[in-house]
Amino acid sequence: MIKENIFERIKRMPRMNYIKEPTPLYKLEHLSKALGCEVEIYIKRDDLLPFGGNKVRKLEFLFAEALKYGADTVITGSTVQCNHNLMALLIANMEGMKTELILENFAKPDYKYASDPNRQLFEFGGVRKIDISSEPITGQISSMELALNRKDELTELGEKPYILERGGTCPLGNCGYVICADEIISQASDMEIDFDYLICPSGTGGTQMGLLIGFDAANYPITVLGISVAFENEKHLVGLSRILDQTEAFLDVQVPIEKVHSVDGYLGKGYAKPTPEVKEAIELTARTQGVMLDPVYSGKTMAGLIGMIRKGEIKKGSKVIFLHTGGFNTYYDYSSMSELVGETNII
Ligand SMILES: *Cc1c(COP(=O)(O)O)cnc(C)c1O
Repeated sequence: MIKENIFERIKRMPRMNYIKEPTPLYKLEHLSKALGCEVEIYIKRDDLLPFGGNKVRKLEFLFAEALKYGADTVITGSTVQCNHNLMALLIANMEGMKTELILENFAKPDYKYASDPNRQLFEFGGVRKIDISSEPITGQISSMELALNRKDELTELGEKPYILERGGTCPLGNCGYVICADEIISQASDMEIDFDYLICPSGTGGTQMGLLIGFDAANYPITVLGISVAFENEKHLVGLSRILDQTEAFLDVQVPIEKVHSVDGYLGKGYAKPTPEVKEAIELTARTQGVMLDPVYSGKTMAGLIGMIRKGEIKKGSKVIFLHTGGFNTYYDYSSMSELVGETNII
């Protein structure tokens, strides 16, 4: 199989058609100026994807697989701060499936589901069951006992549960970001711009590794920089190389390992723990461009980009794409709703 055919190959795979058009890619003129005009910053607005974030690119493939399998229930999970949980629930509803979530609360030892701002949203969406895990579920969710046991229980009851990988990260899910590289390349070509860097948050790394594989397959000379938002670099690189290996094997491609870049120094005290630089990045981006970032993923990534520019680590005159992965869907206060009596009984 020749390398260049990778996009066509992926586009022939079963996939739901939730994403109707490319997300916008445009220059952050004012922000570039505020940072001294040394680097031209562009933004790829994956926060504007249907359902509000990056996970939908993965879920287009995974829901196609779930439907093919005839699933009636989706068991999935991720950290409590991840946009995957709500998105998976909403899409499952759209496809007529029930959802059971496993929420990881390892970043917040005092976490209580009862006071989780997302709780009301999960309950509006009719989540069937919530389990809380205090451990980070490393690797694939299918390796997780909780999910597997639940799958057995439901199967015994005559249901057809489908375990959807943690955060949607698995070789099939990552294909969503492989073809996103193709989308970006064609936008860049329409804009007649050659981009030097793409910077994105790296949680499980599915987004970053998918993009890297895509750009490499197309021989597009861009450096993909991931800002680790979850782990110290050394540990994160181990995870990244595992995700890369698995996805390479699935697609029968090979990317030189030197192309995996994980930028150190912006994690702060850990996952979902913002730093003063994150606050500055959120304020600066909102005030100069009217784009809101979140404190867990995109804010940390913008803090990384700003830090790199200030330190001169990004060459003067470079053109950089900042991938906004979303994660800003809980900004209304639903807490007063929990005092209301009455429930929908139809579902
Ligand atoms: C999950 C998530 C990410 C990280 O994506 P990975 O593919 O897990 O690295 C980034 N931003 C937001 C808003 C997310 O929810």
